Amino acid sequence: MNLSHPSLFQTNAFINGAFKASESGNTFEVANPFNKDILAQVANSTKADTEEAIQAASNAFQVWKKFTASKRSRILKNWYHLQLKHADDLAQILTLEQGKPLAEAKGEIKYGASFVEWFAEEARRIYGDTIPGHQADKRIVTIKQPVGVVAAITPWNFPSAMITRKVAPALAAGCTVVIKPSELTPLSALALAQLSIEAGFPPGVINILPTINAVEVGQTMTNSKLVRKLSFTGSTKVGKLLMRQCADTVKKISMELGGNAPFIVFDDADMDEAVSGAIAAKYRNAGQTCICANRIFVQSSVYDEFTEKFAKAVKEQKVGNGLEEGTIVGPMIEEKAVQSVEAVLEDAQTKGADIITGGKRVGNNDSLIYEPTVVKNVNTDMLVFKNEIFGPVAPIFKFDTEEEVVKMANDTNYGLASYFYGRDYARIWRVAEALEFGMVGINTGMISTTVAPFGGVKESGFGREGSKYGIDDYVEIKYMCWGGVS
Ligand code: ADP
Repeated sequence: MNLSHPSLFQTNAFINGAFKASESGNTFEVANPFNKDILAQVANSTKADTEEAIQAASNAFQVWKKFTASKRSRILKNWYHLQLKHADDLAQILTLEQGKPLAEAKGEIKYGASFVEWFAEEARRIYGDTIPGHQADKRIVTIKQPVGVVAAITPWNFPSAMITRKVAPALAAGCTVVIKPSELTPLSALALAQLSIEAGFPPGVINILPTINAVEVGQTMTNSKLVRKLSFTGSTKVGKLLMRQCADTVKKISMELGGNAPFIVFDDADMDEAVSGAIAAKYRNAGQTCICANRIFVQSSVYDEFTEKFAKAVKEQKVGNGLEEGTIVGPMIEEKAVQSVEAVLEDAQTKGADIITGGKRVGNNDSLIYEPTVVKNVNTDMLVFKNEIFGPVAPIFKFDTEEEVVKMANDTNYGLASYFYGRDYARIWRVAEALEFGMVGINTGMISTTVAPFGGVKESGFGREGSKYGIDDYVEIKYMCWGGVS
């Protein structure tokens, strides 16, 4: 690692403003998925560490919530500027532990920082209402107050941005946070902690607990009465478990879970645009995002044209080491992830699908680099239709009518992102309204931005991140009824 700010490389937990070894003294390894090199031994936080962090966050809440909005805003802005200033270092750490190409990692750092800037601005706009009273002597006022200590559990696919997207609105609202990053990518989180010290956050406002004991730390968070809110991004399976765990203390919850995004190409679409949109929506982060195009549906009259152009563009993507210039698709995160892609492809092939390009690892049998893959002759009985693929595999389905494709697109328990390409404006409205997803990309494969509400419906979760709505998940509305005004 060759960092211009070496202190960004931290391996201990961050509790009450300081980096600390775990009370157990134990550590775990973090590896580079490209070559499996061990990058660091990181503190393995325990129940006791978690309790200490929660207590620190609870103490800090009494201080932080009383800061004026503009004071909180200024500290958040400092943090934002520091993230941009050190974007190259942060991106390097991210690529090393996660695998995504450096250009994509830098994009993530900027995207992540943009939430900090946005919510630094929103901090000053957390308005209440005055409501006309229901009786002559009554006056009614609402205020919005921070929910309290927030626990955040985040995944490995966006090790930096999934943290800032939760933490920035929480801090802007006046909450304090205890974060459990993914065990696969704790280094990006700890680098953000270092910058939080430099930005001037009081001790305890931000706490970070790296651990391989996800269950133990998660349970300590959800059992705690001091933690008033849980924000989770990850699999639907773990999300459901955490919701159950939050029931006993009736916590406020936000859940950003899995997806099974349809990507529909109608016959009047601009084919070249649709191809490049599909490439962007499918292969970013080697297909490992919850909004990746999972099922591509192409109208029969343009099916051959689209498929040919798409497969050609897929083959042109350079795969390999994320640190190397020009790499478009990096390694997958871990062996389990590659095996899950192999299983889905095997299922498709035994049921009659054909691989047009890709379909194997690059290099050795244990390589985590998987060729960008395109599959045709697929149908709705296959796992490529039902499962969240979470890898660089694109199945291309054929459809005839609008009605048929909307039905197929909605035939999933998930409801996060969806995409379609077409020109007919009436059809665009009809389809956008009919898709049962929280987000719809129309003639674009790139929908993530700070200014828009990100989130899902159905088993993809609830709550919205980013935009003017992002603060709502971190505040409670209190209503005051003033009587005797006569
Ligand atoms: P993925 O399949 O994308 O890794 P997970 O839902 O398994 O998604 O992981 C997302 C986050 O949830 C990670 O930080 C992981 O450590 C954490 N996690 C997994 N299982 C649990 C659990 N039982 N309790 C708390 N956190 C968990």
